[in-house]
Amino acid sequence: MLDMLDAAGVRYLFHAFASGVADDAVVFESKSGPLAIPATVVVDCTGDGDVAAAAGADFEVGREEDGLTQPMTLMFRMVEFDRGRFADYVREHPDQWRGVLGLWDLVARAQAAGELELPREDILFFATPHAREVSVNSTRTNPGPAIDTWALTAAEWASRRQMRQIVRFLREWVPGFEDAYAAQSGTVIGVRETRRVVGEYMLTGEDVLQARAFDDAVARGSYPIDIHNPRGEGTVLKRLPPGTAYDIPLRCLIPRSTDRLLVGGRCISGTHEAHSSYRVTPIAMATGHAAGVCAALASSSDLPPREVPHTDVQQELLRQRASLRPELAQRLTEPEPDRR
Ligand SMILES: Cc1cc2nc3c(=O)[nH]c(=O)nc-3n(C[C@H](O)[C@H](O)[C@H](O)COP(=O)(O)OP(=O)(O)OC[C@H]3O[C@@H](n4cnc5c(N)ncnc54)[C@H](O)[C@@H]3O)c2cc1C
Repeated sequence: MLDMLDAAGVRYLFHAFASGVADDAVVFESKSGPLAIPATVVVDCTGDGDVAAAAGADFEVGREEDGLTQPMTLMFRMVEFDRGRFADYVREHPDQWRGVLGLWDLVARAQAAGELELPREDILFFATPHAREVSVNSTRTNPGPAIDTWALTAAEWASRRQMRQIVRFLREWVPGFEDAYAAQSGTVIGVRETRRVVGEYMLTGEDVLQARAFDDAVARGSYPIDIHNPRGEGTVLKRLPPGTAYDIPLRCLIPRSTDRLLVGGRCISGTHEAHSSYRVTPIAMATGHAAGVCAALASSSDLPPREVPHTDVQQELLRQRASLRPELAQRLTEPEPDRR
């Protein structure tokens, strides 16, 4: 990835934290003191919309009814895991499973013995490319919005405690984990939801579930609405009709109250419900791609992002082999009819 950035002539800066905006620059805190990086157009991909908020963009946080956000989760990987023994155990004890993901009988017994306080309804295991490794997604904590540093600190600590307990439970109770140990956790807790910057259009849960098409689409997604309960156990999962995808309009990447800013990734414009779908990695990558293309066109044509024709963004995205709705892609790439 770094080789690609070098090949493209990108000048990048690590170890710098965007903390504000001043005149035509974004201000970063760094080891060498505050740095002001001037820019004609800025793309905020902080996940939290930090730069957008500092620039005065409108934003929303959490559910409409109470402002609560999805909980945070620290993921970790265990190694020296015996996948075969674990799979045998699962096959031999199907009655102990709630679906294929719950380890419910053992969890209930460990909880009754006071050895586990699982804050959610499942233990999610993800296979990795390594046979003796498993990734575990099962901590859950929500002491407050993750843009509040005190809440983030409390969440970090709570999730690390939970991780210690879950690792002990897996090693002591679950066949296949006898020799396993936690080799690595996320360097920081994972945050699902914070600011949603309000753009020229706000994608809704209905747009997602109805697989709605938009003329100014610059990305698309098909991941379900997936809301982990902000208050504890339970996850809402609502799927799109099979084989369909929804569009994300360019307007969702253009904050309505700023001029030279775009957003990409999970902080784009949408409701709490829509966010729970477009927050995932492939869709965040696609909106980041679109925001970058629009920013480059805005900068080279000396226009604010909202005045860049959406068809120009779409054409460039298609040239760069982005995935857009096939009918739209076909319409945009059809040769102009010969009018002689
Ligand atoms: C526990 C968990 C499990 C998940 N599981 C899946 C899954 O299985 N599949 C899936 O597709 N998605 C999953 N997701 C969702 C997905 O990982 C994220 O929503 C997605 O990565 C968001 O991408 P992003 O680029 O918007 O933000 P991020 O990936 O969070 O990137 C933002 C970057 O900006 C940096 N940054 C933040 N603030 C500043 C600042 N002020 N200055 C400078 N830099 C800053 C951060 O350090 C980070 O590097 C999961 C999320 C969580 C929390």
